[in-house]
Amino acid sequence: MLSVLLGAAGLAAVLCLWFPSVLTTPELREIYDMTLIRGLIKAGLLAAFLCGTASLLLKRRKALGLTGIGLAGLATLMGGSQVEVSTPVRASDHLGLDWFLLNLLILATVFVPLEHLFARLPAQRVFRKGWTTDLAHFGVSHLLVQATVLLTLVPAAVFFRWAVSPTLQSAIAGQPVLLQFAEILVIADLTQYTTHRLFHAVPWLWRFHQVHHSAQCLDWLAASRLHLVDIVVTRAVGFVPVYVLGFATGPTYAYLVFVSFQAILIHANVNFRFGPLRWVLATPQFHHWHHSAESEALDKNFAVHLPVIDLVFGTFHLPGNRWPARYGLEGDPVPENYARQLAYPFRPSAHPRSPAIRPATPNTPPNTAS
Ligand SMILES: [Zn+2]
Ligand SMILES: [Zn+2]
Repeated sequence: MLSVLLGAAGLAAVLCLWFPSVLTTPELREIYDMTLIRGLIKAGLLAAFLCGTASLLLKRRKALGLTGIGLAGLATLMGGSQVEVSTPVRASDHLGLDWFLLNLLILATVFVPLEHLFARLPAQRVFRKGWTTDLAHFGVSHLLVQATVLLTLVPAAVFFRWAVSPTLQSAIAGQPVLLQFAEILVIADLTQYTTHRLFHAVPWLWRFHQVHHSAQCLDWLAASRLHLVDIVVTRAVGFVPVYVLGFATGPTYAYLVFVSFQAILIHANVNFRFGPLRWVLATPQFHHWHHSAESEALDKNFAVHLPVIDLVFGTFHLPGNRWPARYGLEGDPVPENYARQLAYPFRPSAHPRSPAIRPATPNTPPNTAS
């Protein structure tokens, strides 16, 4: 499996070298060091060959090993890490293939060992049920980064320009950086709380958000299981107050880095409980309860950063040291396939009920009858 993944990633990286204007992100190209990137491509292709060969020697079924070696071979035949890039690369509409590959590499390097060492569910494997669907969500949302960023920023500028006050904006941007960061955290989470709660309460919005709740295994990759409409609407609404208030670029970027990391951490299969900090910041235990299939946690823990918002609005649920027994949706209504999940909210519902009247089924005891 590793050989196939590395072979596919290597081939995708070589395609980025061949077609940089359509497959890579201008903002990223300015940052990354091409010597390092070429070294990574070379190492990835070599590892794909080695893992593929090991698989061919050790496994009875040869399909995965052959596929991995085939992909790495194709990437090498296409020039491998040495493909020359004609500079300068012209700006164009693009897919964020490089953004996808780099983020996947960094997150897998951080979270796979972390989830192995501090697993909350040690029996859960890396390639667990639904991982291909989650990887497809991760891939598409990264590939479409240019479009999603645009759809996030444009509505605020089009519909809320009237609300901008230069005097207020310069006063806000003039505050200490740490204070601005804390303000963004509170304001963004109040907006996220409201949007998130609406996604649960309004039946047609719930159909989009059900995709996120269909995950039966939680880990870092499951954080990506989100319908594109869910992503764009939540981000676009969240950006409105940040745009109107005019925070400085530094704290805004710091918040973006923080939210990206925390959103993944709270889904991770890790047993960190963070001591008293868990009352201040959302933790994996806090958000895992939001994904619980048990009735006690129905429509609880909507905040992304600050549990205090749930405390204030009466939706807080953190029962001591306990973790949920199971995740997902009653009746499992969402299909387990990326394309079908994308179409799911637009299809006639076989489960037309709103979340407010979702069945409050108690935990079914293990079937001991023989
Ligand atoms: Zn939710
Ligand atoms: Zn979640």
